[in-house]
Amino acid sequence: MPLLEVHNLSMRYTTLRGIVKALEGVSFDVNEGETLAVVGETGSGKSTLAKAIVRVLEENAKIVSGEIIFEGVDILKLSEEEFRRNYRWVKIAMVPQGSMNSLNPVLKIMDQMIEPLILRGVPRLDAIKIAGEALESVGLTRDVLTKYPHQLSGGMKQRVIIAMAIQAKPKLVILDEPTSALDVMTQANIMNLLKRLRREFKLSYIFITHDLALASELADKVLVLYAGKVAEFGSADLIYSEPKHPYTQGLMSSIPTLREDKKLSFIPGEVPSLINPPSGCRFHPRCPYAMDICRREEPPLITLDNDHKVACWLYSK
Ligand code: SF4
Repeated sequence: MPLLEVHNLSMRYTTLRGIVKALEGVSFDVNEGETLAVVGETGSGKSTLAKAIVRVLEENAKIVSGEIIFEGVDILKLSEEEFRRNYRWVKIAMVPQGSMNSLNPVLKIMDQMIEPLILRGVPRLDAIKIAGEALESVGLTRDVLTKYPHQLSGGMKQRVIIAMAIQAKPKLVILDEPTSALDVMTQANIMNLLKRLRREFKLSYIFITHDLALASELADKVLVLYAGKVAEFGSADLIYSEPKHPYTQGLMSSIPTLREDKKLSFIPGEVPSLINPPSGCRFHPRCPYAMDICRREEPPLITLDNDHKVACWLYSK
């Protein structure tokens, strides 16, 4: 049984300009110990998906269909109290985008780390011990507990955030662009840390990024989102070696390599408005292979060999 199964998830935001169809019929699964990379451009629905899984949606957001099954339980059906007590930050943790800048500047790291533990009923002294151990497991010393955020470097702050995510020993950690604000060296160190933690704590990750090259360092499986829909889903080996969807192929050809003298290209155009998305295949205005049917009808998710799935009329029999 997969650790996490998402079935047919659709989400809407109500805005003054209209209803934003942020996610439409998204399905995928993550097994224990596995890393799923969720990739796509800004506006593809990646962060919305993460927030739906940990149920931290904005007031104007609504899940209109679908199931999120974690260890066999549909977590969308649980009360907020039960989800908060047993799942959020307990079994499912998240490193939100830009979170290292969200540390409270006037509170010591200790107070920020132990607060969620104390809220769950952990005695203060035990919470301090757990926080100290978590800091050590991310390569920091316990004296960081007594520091204020401004006394730490960007890389140290990101390690604190990761320590906060893993201190309750979750099974799944959702990492939303966890290295985006860091320099290249610090980024490499954080990626190595994530690999080590995955091994030591048998973690599963959902690694959200716009950077396919970075995702390749961790991913066992890849979910490519385009304008709120699944474009392609499958094992990382297959998606990196034989991308099928024209959008995935476009993302791949924009990755520079050291070995090949490859001409880099980019995908022309922009992610469409999700208030009034294009008819048929949402990618058709940017697709070099668009056919008549692509403008008229949405392509189904077609299963190819080895459970590789692609939403594209080019593969319809
Ligand atoms: Fe391109 Fe058509 Fe495939 Fe969409 S369905 S990606 S427009 S070929």
